[in-house]
Amino acid sequence: MAEKYIATPTRTKEILTKYQFSFKKSLGQNFLVDANILSNILRHTGIDRQAGAIEIGPGIGALTEQLAIHAENVAAFEIDQRLLPILEDTLSEYDNVQIIHQDILKADVRAVIEESFRGGQPVHIVANLPYYITTPILMKLLRENLPVASITVMIQKEVAERMAARPNSKSYGSLTIAVQYYTEAKVVMNVPKQVFMPQPNVDSSILQLQPRKAPPVHVEDEDYFFTLVQACFAQRRKTLRNNLTSHFKDTLTKEAITEILEQISIDGSRRGESLDMEEFALLANAFYKNGAIA
Ligand code: SAM
Repeated sequence: MAEKYIATPTRTKEILTKYQFSFKKSLGQNFLVDANILSNILRHTGIDRQAGAIEIGPGIGALTEQLAIHAENVAAFEIDQRLLPILEDTLSEYDNVQIIHQDILKADVRAVIEESFRGGQPVHIVANLPYYITTPILMKLLRENLPVASITVMIQKEVAERMAARPNSKSYGSLTIAVQYYTEAKVVMNVPKQVFMPQPNVDSSILQLQPRKAPPVHVEDEDYFFTLVQACFAQRRKTLRNNLTSHFKDTLTKEAITEILEQISIDGSRRGESLDMEEFALLANAFYKNGAIA
């Protein structure tokens, strides 16, 4: 990519100096200054000239610019008002970008998809996410079941590993189940701290999420399912039976819990981290049908 692009240390410094911009750590502002990383992100999104793109947190426009070049149109949510005049300047060459001054956690993303993109146009979510709210943002996007073709995000390496983990690994937990219930999750690349300005304390990864057409398991009630999954991981070193006993302490006896587990042939002395998605569904559905309040 040529030097004229925003995502270079020189151009970024120029822009920051011109506007006397000071980073807000509280908003997770670590801007990308490496064009190769951006090419890699773009390559994994599957975006083409017919596609729409939604960005979360455009910053000074490093990724937004590449989206404007490669997609048909872009809608980007930015919470920091100070960045609006900067973006107007840095992206002035592109007439296919709409900046929405909003907190993504409060935004009606579905309405934006309906209003900003053509019916049937594939829409991809792409972002270098503010790390302080990675999980709430992704959970919001997933639980709203948005009509999107893919979600490709730069996040902390450790969180990306949790989202793409397999049973019995250190990173496997309730977040893994939530993400893999809605999507097929893959870590496509690890990224060193040096490609950001300022450099964060942790390494990062690019995570690609492909929304599933239907969940991989049948659950009677999604909220109930996710509550029970969380309960099974409440204390990682405890057995399933003990975690469930603490969780249902006001409604079910230990004996009743053992009986339900026996009915579904799940050994109560196992730990939550050994259960796969199907076993969690079996377990949650059994407690749900028993009428136990989660
Ligand atoms: N996309 C730019 C890049 O890669 O250089 C900036 C990424 S920076 C890690 C995160 C961006 O998200 C910042 O611009 C920050 O102001 C913005 N941001 C933080 N919290 C936000 C929120 N709740 N809603 C929308 N944008 C947010």
